[in-house]
Amino acid sequence: MVLNTQQQRELIIFFVYIAIAAGIGSIFGYALLFSVVTLFGYIFYQLHHLFKLHNWLLNRSNNLPDAKGYWGEIFNEIHLMEKDKRKNRDQINKVLSRFQNAAQALPDGAIILTKYNDIEWANQTACTMLGIRSETDIGRKINNLIRHPKFQKYLNKSDYSKAIQLPRPMQPEHELEIQITPFGSNQKLILCRDISHIAQLEAMRSRFISNVSHELRSPLTVIKGYMEMLTEDDSQASVSDHQKKVFANMYDQVGRMDRLVEDLLTITRLETQQISANEEIDIASMLSAIRDNVEILGKNKKQKLTLNVDSHLKLIGDNDELTSLFTNLVNNAVRYTPDNGEINIQWRKQSDQAIFSVTDTGPGIEREHLSHLTERFYRVDSDRSRKSGGTGLGLSIVKHVLDRHDGQLDIDSTPGQGSTFICRFPAQRFIVTK
Ligand code: ADP
Repeated sequence: MVLNTQQQRELIIFFVYIAIAAGIGSIFGYALLFSVVTLFGYIFYQLHHLFKLHNWLLNRSNNLPDAKGYWGEIFNEIHLMEKDKRKNRDQINKVLSRFQNAAQALPDGAIILTKYNDIEWANQTACTMLGIRSETDIGRKINNLIRHPKFQKYLNKSDYSKAIQLPRPMQPEHELEIQITPFGSNQKLILCRDISHIAQLEAMRSRFISNVSHELRSPLTVIKGYMEMLTEDDSQASVSDHQKKVFANMYDQVGRMDRLVEDLLTITRLETQQISANEEIDIASMLSAIRDNVEILGKNKKQKLTLNVDSHLKLIGDNDELTSLFTNLVNNAVRYTPDNGEINIQWRKQSDQAIFSVTDTGPGIEREHLSHLTERFYRVDSDRSRKSGGTGLGLSIVKHVLDRHDGQLDIDSTPGQGSTFICRFPAQRFIVTK
């Protein structure tokens, strides 16, 4: 062990004391006795200061004991350490209170949860928005305070990539957006903000589209009726071939507008209305009816349409919405698959999922388009879509219906070879009957 200067000095002092005691003792013929007494005296002195230090450590609110020499050095070092520690603590407290003040001033609500979902901290905005009382609710489980089933389901999930929307407790006319972000060791940060004004704008937009679509419906029905008359009435000898062609084209375009209006109304309904029914649906019969409906079109194109369904597998959901979902996918397959192509529709259970898939031998879709296909009016090939009577809204409807049935859409496609559109439904959405 290498001794520093103070330690060397203390050691020298010790030996000097013993030597002086031995010297004085030898004058009286008691050198050993004097040395031992001095040694005890030294030990007593050290113990006395050690006890003082221990007492101070046990009760730090007192001032540090006074001492000279080596112990003075030790107490001084401790005093400096304490001062440093206090300074650091003050700095940390300042940063912490600055952070807390900033978090309190956030226009959004913020809550920190422990790994057991107990509230550790919440800012004033979160308390006001969610009805949390900071004096009594800190330390309580968040799921005992926010009881909305949608929030309970969200909290128990492990995927928090998407935010959820909830009515504000006590003020249900206000809409909140809540996003959970995991951090640290299984802790969670909840951010919430009032999106009532955005929701109001969204509702206004949906109402506007819905009203326009409704208003367009009646004149379109009238025009469609007249166009039907004009195209079907062969008795009009005065109508030239060119005019007949024009009428047929007009009839097609009116049909497209009609489908567009219907699809827009479907989308606004899906956006604004709660899922209307959760009944047990015989998907096998539904698919067989859809197949019969599209078969006429398929036959014209000499396509081979096959159906492999598990008739015991029933889906829980809304009949109209699911019909629209499957019809859109099967229709797309028939429309985009060229003459003599093949289309296979499947409905089966695979491990803990119910799977609907439609595979075609159509043109396929390049990879870069896949993530955009469910956007409204997104078309890979606008010409092809329009020629085949598409509205550009089919896959957007599919996505909406799937979201409302906890389903997921996967698209597997190879350009030039064909595509498979797969809808997956989780276990709580299907039953297998005997
Ligand atoms: P559209 O009415 O134009 O078909 P959709 O929303 O149904 O609109 O589909 C969006 C786009 O996705 C289509 O324009 C088309 O380019 C592409 N698409 C959809 N289904 C298929 C398919 N089975 N094969 C190839 N492309 C497809």
